[in-house]
Amino acid sequence: MIKGVVQGVGFRPHVFRVARDLALTGFVKNTSSGVCIEIQRQACIDTMDLYDRFIASIKISLPPLASITDIKMVPITPLLHELSFEIIASEQGETNTLISPDVCICSLCLSELFDPCSHYYRYPFLNCTNCGPRLTITHQLPYDRAHTSMACFPLCHDCSLDYSDPMNRRYHAQPTACMHCGPQLSSSIGEIAQWLSEGKIVALKGLGGYQLICNAQHETTVMKLRTQKQREAKPFALMVLNTVSAAEWVEMSSHAEAFLNRQERPIIVLKKKNRRLLPGISPDLSSFGMMLPSTPLHYLLFHALLAYPEGTRWIDEKQSIVLVVTSANIAGEPLIIDDVRAIEALSDIADRIVSYDRAIVTRVDDTVISMIDDTPMLIRRARGYVPQPIRLPKKMPSILAVGAHSKNTICITRGDEAFVSQHIGTLDNQETIRFFHETLDYWLSFLKVNPVGIAHDLHPDFYTTQIAHAYGLPTFAIQHHHAHLAAVMAEHHCQGPVLGLILDGYGYGENGEAWGGELFLCTSTLGFQRLASLMPLAQPGGEIAVREPWRMGAAILHQLGLSHDIPYRFKKVAQAPMIRQLLDKQIRCPVTSSCGRLFDAASALLGIDPFSQYEGQAAMKLESLVTTLQSIPNGWEMKGDYLDFTRTMSVLVNIEDSVLGANLFHGTLIEGLSAWVKQWAKETGVSTVVLNGGCFLNQVLTSELIKSLQNHGIKPILPIQLPPNDGGLSLGQAWIAGSHFRAVSPTLMMRG
Ligand code: ZN
Ligand code: ZN
Ligand code: FE
Repeated sequence: MIKGVVQGVGFRPHVFRVARDLALTGFVKNTSSGVCIEIQRQACIDTMDLYDRFIASIKISLPPLASITDIKMVPITPLLHELSFEIIASEQGETNTLISPDVCICSLCLSELFDPCSHYYRYPFLNCTNCGPRLTITHQLPYDRAHTSMACFPLCHDCSLDYSDPMNRRYHAQPTACMHCGPQLSSSIGEIAQWLSEGKIVALKGLGGYQLICNAQHETTVMKLRTQKQREAKPFALMVLNTVSAAEWVEMSSHAEAFLNRQERPIIVLKKKNRRLLPGISPDLSSFGMMLPSTPLHYLLFHALLAYPEGTRWIDEKQSIVLVVTSANIAGEPLIIDDVRAIEALSDIADRIVSYDRAIVTRVDDTVISMIDDTPMLIRRARGYVPQPIRLPKKMPSILAVGAHSKNTICITRGDEAFVSQHIGTLDNQETIRFFHETLDYWLSFLKVNPVGIAHDLHPDFYTTQIAHAYGLPTFAIQHHHAHLAAVMAEHHCQGPVLGLILDGYGYGENGEAWGGELFLCTSTLGFQRLASLMPLAQPGGEIAVREPWRMGAAILHQLGLSHDIPYRFKKVAQAPMIRQLLDKQIRCPVTSSCGRLFDAASALLGIDPFSQYEGQAAMKLESLVTTLQSIPNGWEMKGDYLDFTRTMSVLVNIEDSVLGANLFHGTLIEGLSAWVKQWAKETGVSTVVLNGGCFLNQVLTSELIKSLQNHGIKPILPIQLPPNDGGLSLGQAWIAGSHFRAVSPTLMMRG
């Protein structure tokens, strides 16, 4: 019996070929928990040697999408009259296994795509067992064609020969199809390429949702896209044909290059070669989000834009084409997947809408990664990664965690596996809330689990909290930063004691305070204690300050006794004179220990935009200015349970050069945080620290803090399989709730 990702990935034909090569008889079949193989030897061969060779051969040339987690062997009585090796029908009642994520076109399919003799020549939806769509087309398990949106495309004669031949790469490739029997585009590739070269914006139905595409070098088109999408400044992702072409635009280490080429095909945030390149793509930032083509459709588009070169050599050669490829959605809403909705919502944004007649069942956005030195860090986890589970240290009863309010994901546990959903979004509009419910229903039925408890955020007013209580199951309210900490502990199988430095924008504190720059001690998953925090600052106007960093700048000026300076410094802001009164009288000025707001304050004092167009913009711009880290002597102090950067701020107030200011702020912040952790490590005797929270998306902060802590003999651990922002929160919620269950009711484990 073999367990792992072994179904829907060409595993049975692989076993079939190995068995035939070794002249074995027997069978292979899918069961509810994996793949069951029975083999018999020929009398003349030594048994032990044969089994070893069989297993070794299976492991050596494993199909690209398959992975084995467990192999169990049992001797059986030889069966007489067994003359061949066969693939036999699946057992009923399956299946407990999983499908692989959607992955990019494989090299064999890519050659066929441009081979005039191939049955699949220039077919935009070709795929095989090693590649192509999976989760995005699947309604339910088991993963059979009838359960996917390919069900309405009967195979033609040629395709069905491939599909039913165990020696063929398309044996049981559920989405396989060709020009004669499969989905069709609503416009030709030639037309789309023509439109793009004319400077038009095309909304193209991609794998996990619609994408808006245009020529990134047409400045006016890019500006038109910004205006029509009402997206003034937020960066657009770029697509180039290969890594040689990417090297024209961004700096890449060999690690980053390898990641761009991976079958998950994430967007990778990489440093611009030159800040003047493509000015409309990521204004005022030092990086581009870069990706390579992932579907046959993308490759065909490049082929047409290059005027149909022959053969396949052009695929690896440097090409100057660079496209904007961005998610097609209405600001703040989920990616559009429905064809009717696309026409409604995208007609005003795109010049042309191109669809095809296969439904996208599950919306999956692009995955985004940044590189911290040579280690990848997820920013958004979706296509290529989902539905791969995260392995937990122990089995636990099934928990549903409904996640954070912003960058929501949900998490469902099954035994020792935790399934974190694709990125859903911020639950502040009807469309995202609908997607949240669709995702909940989809995953619960997909995984066939009945949760015994629901974990939610401690915030009493969040939508997720209300939903959690509507299930009528035991609920667990989990403090936001405790969940951030536990997510990393779960992923790293870390039992504690461990320190946790959690730096983010906002989380509801244990007594309702606004937290976001906290140092914790976790003696175990449940033994959670807040040791200290950043010095709380006034947040004038409350939540609105998140979009208006100037308010945090004003709060600092007030704190330094420089209130009179507020209207002069923020001349362009109409409300600036009024804020003085709010601060003087402490009206609508809740305090926050948030590190995100500290970044906002620094950027506002250094004259960076008073308003943010998108979340984190001020901090990202500030980070982009850093050239060489510098620090302010005595720029920070530890005052009891607080780490205070007031002195740093008092220096920034008088600095005109924003680059110098960014260098000083980052350098001093890193030094202060590092000394703070070191102090508490000494006090508690705990020298491992979890670093998590959205602020760790700042590459300068993360990379330098890691080095500094290591120099002090402290071991930092960070999220690897999930993003540090709220997208990873649901795992922590689930792990804490599961640990509560384990602690109070071990018998529940039997049911879980
Ligand atoms: Zn393939
Ligand atoms: Zn066909
Ligand atoms: Fe957070």
